[in-house]
Amino acid sequence: MDLGLQDKVAVVTGGTSGIGLATARLFLAEGAAVAICGRDETRLAAAKSSLLGNAAASRLLAVQCDVLDKDAVGRFASAVERWTGRCDILVNNAGQARMSTFADTTDDAWHEELELKFFSQIHPVRAFKPLLDKSDSAAILAVNSLLAYQPEPYMVATSAARAGAQSLVKSLAREFAPRIRVNAVMLGLIDSGQWERRFVARKDPAQTREEWFADVARTRHIPAERLGTSDEVARAIAFLCSPAAGFITGAQLEISGGTSRHI
Ligand code: NDP
Repeated sequence: MDLGLQDKVAVVTGGTSGIGLATARLFLAEGAAVAICGRDETRLAAAKSSLLGNAAASRLLAVQCDVLDKDAVGRFASAVERWTGRCDILVNNAGQARMSTFADTTDDAWHEELELKFFSQIHPVRAFKPLLDKSDSAAILAVNSLLAYQPEPYMVATSAARAGAQSLVKSLAREFAPRIRVNAVMLGLIDSGQWERRFVARKDPAQTREEWFADVARTRHIPAERLGTSDEVARAIAFLCSPAAGFITGAQLEISGGTSRHI
């Protein structure tokens, strides 16, 4: 199936690692031009050189940007405008999770978490909307988590913030229709940069990567008996952002190996 991504311009926040990097790579492979951002300069440079393995330099823009810094996001959008004059796809992927119960989440931690989950969507949407408005196939994709619907007791703040962010997706889909489609992916556990860091910090250094990840899948009761991969998520994102999904907006696609228990 041709997704129709050839020559589209896609922006992927947090495109320097894990799911964002896999998504940027897939967009490039499908013939799109891609702009990525991340905070860490070294990670940004490494992602850029790894992506340029499959694409011409003219089809990739890598910009250092913290999505929580409104001015920096504005500069990122201006750089994309100078680069191609267009943006057809915005993937709001940048972020991370916070493991904490209610008892061990301070007020400051609540503020941080709510700011991250909301403004990692709000700042890029505001900054890129003028460009998206000019596209004839505009799409925004929020990378969200199954926690929005199925909160976990060890991720109380993240779960609450995720639910709010999902509400925002539904509102934006309505407000931006019919010009811009807005969808979300609801992730279960995906083997990405953040899980790699947890593996590296594991309690038992004798445990192999395979053993440790199998243990995570077992203790989290994932019916598929494994974590998902960043490439599996990237394929779903590419579809939802593509003209092939032209009648899909306000939708959420669960990618969790069957973890959810709600209908
Ligand atoms: P990674 O840690 O591999 O990638 C996160 C990316 O986001 C990096 O490029 C990171 O770069 C960037 N990033 C983080 N914070 C910011 C920021 N403030 N501004 C700009 N860039 C930022 O993790 P994943 O690929 O797993 O995460 C991708 C998204 O998926 C995240 O939003 C995460 O919360 C979500 N998710 C992941 C799940 C999983 O199991 N992996 C489950 C549910 C949701 P840098 O640090 O250099 O800024």
